This record gives sequence, C-alpha cells and structure tokens, in this order.
Amino acid sequence: MPEVKSKFPTEVVELPSKGLLYPEGHPLSSGTIEIKYMTAREEDILTSANLIQQGVVIDQLLKSLIVTEFDYGDLFVGDKNAIMLAARIFGYGKIYSNEITCMECDQKEEVDIDLTTLEYKKIDSKKYNKKNVYEFTLPNSNRKVEYRFLQHRDEEEVQKELTRMAKTSKGLSREVTTRLRYQLLSIDGGSDKKDINNFVLNEFFAVDSKAFRENYADLMPDVDFTVGFICNSCGHTDTDLELPIAVNFFWPSR
Ligand SMILES: [Zn+2]
Repeated sequence: MPEVKSKFPTEVVELPSKGLLYPEGHPLSSGTIEIKYMTAREEDILTSANLIQQGVVIDQLLKSLIVTEFDYGDLFVGDKNAIMLAARIFGYGKIYSNEITCMECDQKEEVDIDLTTLEYKKIDSKKYNKKNVYEFTLPNSNRKVEYRFLQHRDEEEVQKELTRMAKTSKGLSREVTTRLRYQLLSIDGGSDKKDINNFVLNEFFAVDSKAFRENYADLMPDVDFTVGFICNSCGHTDTDLELPIAVNFFWPSR
C-alpha cells in the first residue's frame, strides 16, 4: 500500500524518554517520533467519539497522526502523553482553556494555559536501561522489588481488567492494585505471578505502596503537567497543580 500519510507536512516530536527505554534498533530509540498535522480525517475520528469512547479515540487519533513505523503498543505512557500534547498544539493551537477549582475557596476559575510552556520532567539518563527492569527497596518492609514502566499495551490490559472488575465490584475501584500488579516483576527475587498478586493484595503496606508509587512517578519519563495557579477570588497560590486533561483537550469549545 502506498504511504498516504507522508504527503502531509510533518513535525518531529522529542520524546520524554529520549528513547532510552526502547530496545536497541527500535525506531523510537532515537528519542524522536514523526507525526503529521491534524487534518479533516482526524477530525472525523474525533467527532465520532462519544464520552465513553474518548480514551480509545485518542489512541485512534494518535495512530492516525504517527508517521514513524512501529508497534503502537510499545509506546511508553509518558511518551504517549508527549505525542498527545504535540498533536493538540499542532491541531488546535497552544492555548488550552480549562476550569480549575480553587482548593482554598472552591471558586471555579477559567484559566488559559499556554501548552508550549509545559516541559518534560528532567531525567538522569544513567538511571534507565533497555530491559525495562528496575529495582526498589520498600522502605518499611525492606523487601526488594523489581518493576517496569508500563507501555501502551499494558495500560490497555489494565483498563480491560478494570472494566471487567467494575461490573462486579460495586463501585470499589481496583485501579491502584491492578496497576501495581502490572508494574511489579518480582518480590525478593520471586517472579511467580500468583505470589506477586498475593503480595499486592495482602502484603503491600500502604506506606510502602505510597513510596513505590512516588518513586515510580519520579523516575517515569513524562511530560510535567504541573502548572502554577493563582486564585482571583482568594489569592491562594498553588505552584504544582496537576493540569486536568479534560474533555475539551481535543474538543475545544471555541
Ligand atoms: Zn480561592
């Protein structure tokens, strides 16, 4: 089949991972990805979305925009965020209008965020390997765990499991434990899936789980979505507010 995509102007996007997480020879190990500008074809994809499908539709959109050839499932989550951000800027411009609720006075503020001011988290190249295996010692139990950073295909599995479980769990969210089960590769050298599941559900102390997740979030190459916020009503200042990626990220109202 002829490559239709490449007739459009393209843009090279740098990846937060700098390609360090991908195996040698992988197209993304260069640390960049080529994407094309959004056209009417992508707008078709976006307008076919209903609220429930939005996660899936963003993946369809990104797949349609990516020119670099590789298995989409290989994408690390933070890199996907960067592509999503770039696609939004190329497609609808850099200003993202969003409503932020003040933590102090509950007042809702309309804010315009310049998306080009968002930066990637600083990463120390020496800390990453192409095997995607990392070690962490849990501060409370002192147990040694091995873990990996999740890729798109893992996130898809996590989401599928969560959807399945939601039908039976009556509102109880299993998001934290489900994701942990996918991230963990071994506990004290043991890599049996059953043992890992049992550990996550019964032995993973909250202090340890919190420390693990903080370490994971610190190390995971990603876009830094934190923004500064000053409340016009009460003057409350927040220097590291996580930018909410709402429905209108790709469906701007104006
Ligand atoms: Zn306020």
